[in-house]
Amino acid sequence: MACATEKIVGVTFRAMDRRRFLLTLAAGLVGAAAARGTADLVSTDRPPSRVPGPAATARPPVTGVVPQAPPAGVVSALPGDGTSLALTIDDGTSTEVVGAFAAFAADSGVRLTFFPNGRYRAWTDHAAVLQPLVDSGQVAFGNHTWSHPDLTTLGDDAVAEEIGRNQDFLRTTFGVHDTPFFRPPYGARNERIDRIAAHLGHPTVVMWNGTLGDDRVLAPADVVAAARQWFTSQRIVVGHANHPPVTTVYADLLALIAERSLQTVTLADVWATPTQRLRGTHTSASLAR
Ligand SMILES: [Zn+2]
Repeated sequence: MACATEKIVGVTFRAMDRRRFLLTLAAGLVGAAAARGTADLVSTDRPPSRVPGPAATARPPVTGVVPQAPPAGVVSALPGDGTSLALTIDDGTSTEVVGAFAAFAADSGVRLTFFPNGRYRAWTDHAAVLQPLVDSGQVAFGNHTWSHPDLTTLGDDAVAEEIGRNQDFLRTTFGVHDTPFFRPPYGARNERIDRIAAHLGHPTVVMWNGTLGDDRVLAPADVVAAARQWFTSQRIVVGHANHPPVTTVYADLLALIAERSLQTVTLADVWATPTQRLRGTHTSASLAR
């Protein structure tokens, strides 16, 4: 058994490490482990960390969050007081990393908002895993353009084409056809870009006020350090499905969220129109045209 392996999103993961981790969590030791560091929870060669499924842990509900109408304009934090944390994951240049994020969400119940670029095949590759999470409202989407250009360098028609093509991708791949959220690549925006996005159905331009710093390759410890800095209440934290290190510290991120008594929320948990609320703040494939 000690040599047993299983393939998880294309990365070999030692089954015994996962079993030890699950048993540790089941024994209720995660808080104590977090307090003394999680080195004993995560193997030193840091495979993608897996966490217990919903059957093994009570999935925390979204409490105290009443969705408001999506605002017109730029947001960079969650409104009001509370204990919410919005994790927003961009791009998706790596199929392996998108797969790891999908497994992370499915296993842990963590609520995520993705801002994919449809040009990357990673999203279609993992659509079957993501779709039930979209249907349940655990995963939400925003538009991040089709191919990630600096929109401020493009003319109006090209900007509209980038946004519209990614809308088509979100609709055909996940049945999402009315997300209010737009995030400009590189955060590069101005009034003209905001106006075009709003005209195309994305009134809410979502920036951020915390980051995992993982738009470049970081050491896993640096990703955790960024999370320690930025995982606090009512923040919108940006991360990326581009480089593997973040996939090795999921257990650390969950321990931090638990230690600080935060609850993860999607942007659609926080901002949804009445129509979207009636649908459960998301649009399922069954509602797609
Ligand atoms: Zn991006």
